[in-house]
Amino acid sequence: MINIDFYHDLLPYLAKNKVKLIAVSKTKSAHDIFQFYQLGQKIFGENKVQELVAKYETLPKDIEWHFIGNLQRNKVKYIAPFVSLIHSVTSLELLAEINKQAQKNNRIIDCLLEFHIASEESKNGLNFNESSAILASAEFKNFQNIRIVGVMGMASFTEDKDQVLSEFKTLKSTFNQLKTQYFQTKDTYKEISMGMSGDYELAVEAGSTMVRIGSSLFGKRD
Ligand SMILES: *Cc1c(COP(=O)(O)O)cnc(C)c1O
Repeated sequence: MINIDFYHDLLPYLAKNKVKLIAVSKTKSAHDIFQFYQLGQKIFGENKVQELVAKYETLPKDIEWHFIGNLQRNKVKYIAPFVSLIHSVTSLELLAEINKQAQKNNRIIDCLLEFHIASEESKNGLNFNESSAILASAEFKNFQNIRIVGVMGMASFTEDKDQVLSEFKTLKSTFNQLKTQYFQTKDTYKEISMGMSGDYELAVEAGSTMVRIGSSLFGKRD
């Protein structure tokens, strides 16, 4: 069951804080997505390549599709023609492949560097030194078809709000440090993708510019 009341309550709160909503539609039907589309929602997030491509093909072409999951290099080619933002870049090799496929499609693909901010080992992401190594590399400087527009992270799955807030603040400070060191003159570097159904208010408090909300909008996933 989709939750239209939640959506209508969420929009003014996000607008007031100048935060964009990525409606995370993974596992949900094209029909459910279309219902939010008709209410004006134009940005959707998916975490599986095949599923994203199938939905892209059936749904209206003015939807902005964001990729938010673990991305295998050999699958970049399937989303490169249309993806608007890849939230989950965790290596130079992946970035090189995105650059190559973007070039083939004669476009520039916006990307976020994903950071590991949670206490759980299982979550993906770079640490600060790894991200610095990418951004300082000669190879990175030659990429003409990608643009790093910010950072992304997922907080720990815990009831401890202080911990979650502190993890989001860590991501915000990482964003700032990278801004100073690598993106001082780049106005396009401005996004902090953090916050999900259970923790988006804490993320907004810590300076999120994009929240990725799934189950509160679309209902629980199986
Ligand atoms: C599934 C997912 C979300 C949305 O999670 P909800 O708790 O359903 O809001 C956000 N970000 C990523 C990376 C996800 O995989």
